[in-house]
Amino acid sequence: MRVVVVGGGIAGAELIRCASAHEALELVLIEPKPRIECQALYPELLSGKVSVEDITAPLKPFCERVGATLISERAISLEEGVVVCERSRVEYDVVVVATGATQNYYGIRGAERAFSIHTLEHALRARQFIESHSPERIVIVGSGLTGVETACELAESLDATIYIVEMMDRVLPTFPERTSSLVGKTLESRGVRVLTSLGVCAIEEEGVALSDGSVLECDMVIWTAGIRPSSFVESLSLPKRNGWLLTDRYLRVREDVFVIGDNAWVEVDGKIATKTGMEAERQARHTAENLARLERGTPLFPYRVRASTDSPVALISTGCGCAVGVYGRMCITMPSRLIYAVKSWIDRSFIRRFR
Ligand SMILES: Cc1cc2nc3c(=O)[nH]c(=O)nc-3n(C[C@H](O)[C@H](O)[C@H](O)COP(=O)(O)OP(=O)(O)OC[C@H]3O[C@@H](n4cnc5c(N)ncnc54)[C@H](O)[C@@H]3O)c2cc1C
Repeated sequence: MRVVVVGGGIAGAELIRCASAHEALELVLIEPKPRIECQALYPELLSGKVSVEDITAPLKPFCERVGATLISERAISLEEGVVVCERSRVEYDVVVVATGATQNYYGIRGAERAFSIHTLEHALRARQFIESHSPERIVIVGSGLTGVETACELAESLDATIYIVEMMDRVLPTFPERTSSLVGKTLESRGVRVLTSLGVCAIEEEGVALSDGSVLECDMVIWTAGIRPSSFVESLSLPKRNGWLLTDRYLRVREDVFVIGDNAWVEVDGKIATKTGMEAERQARHTAENLARLERGTPLFPYRVRASTDSPVALISTGCGCAVGVYGRMCITMPSRLIYAVKSWIDRSFIRRFR
């Protein structure tokens, strides 16, 4: 059975790794980037704690090792049995869509000029700007997991004033209130100025125009406020929810199309999967097993969501070698150094698997 995976990020690469254990599957990976990247470590790349080599693994030797064919191109569209790429047409029996997400700027004026750390390229550009311009005032837009971790890293490593602007009334608005309150206090103890209940109207030359009519002057803006589906997913005429590909309980959007990772809307038994590395990896492993079952003609296993929007699971780095753990309504703060050590080990061991 010829399985074509579109996107070699956390979900796609993990799927290839796990599916390679099943010899009856012929694996093809379509991915334009030369490396697998661990996005969870971008905030530490920004502060200079880790290097590009620490947080990436080259795709070509990995694919050679596991016997998968790598097509270093961008997929453009999907036809019956064929993925259309920039220069080639790749036939499939089953396709797995794992193209992740892209930054969402919500059409806000000037926002696309802000720095982002959604991709390695963006994170490196932001780091180069910090190194060459030594900004004194940095505004981070959005206080989700990425915004919070970035603020803590920069507060620890730079002699600059760091602001975090959040439209909702608390940081980490998608997490339980106790987590928001604890992390909010930690941010303040690190010297980060937290501005909540303020929307961003525009990014101007001199700073960030806010919904209360003021302009927050700064030398650098880092946009971390939200994601949207990749352009590939946008081009597909398949069932969707809020723009994401809507899967059934077997993580399929059609009999021959599986969807995993950030680009999937996974809702099983009333639980909506969070768009996290942890869910992406679990969905990849589950799909690798189901592909083997499909090839053997045995029934597929339904997926069970672990980290759902109403019961998140996450380890959040808060700088200075500390982190907090979130498990459903529980927020585990002690021992914060041990929690950071566990997070660090998980992130680094993800990349080591592909070396
Ligand atoms: C800064 C940051 C920090 C994060 N921290 C954490 C964390 O601490 N913990 C956690 O659990 N999660 C974290 N996340 C979220 C986590 O990284 C994502 O949920 C995870 O990467 C999703 O995996 P994915 O494979 O779906 O997407 P990605 O890892 O983004 O991979 C998608 C891949 O698809 C490729 N692609 C896109 N379009 C095409 C196309 N047309 N053709 C071919 N290939 C294509 C891309 O090049 C990319 O390699 C973080 C995210 C960011 C941005």
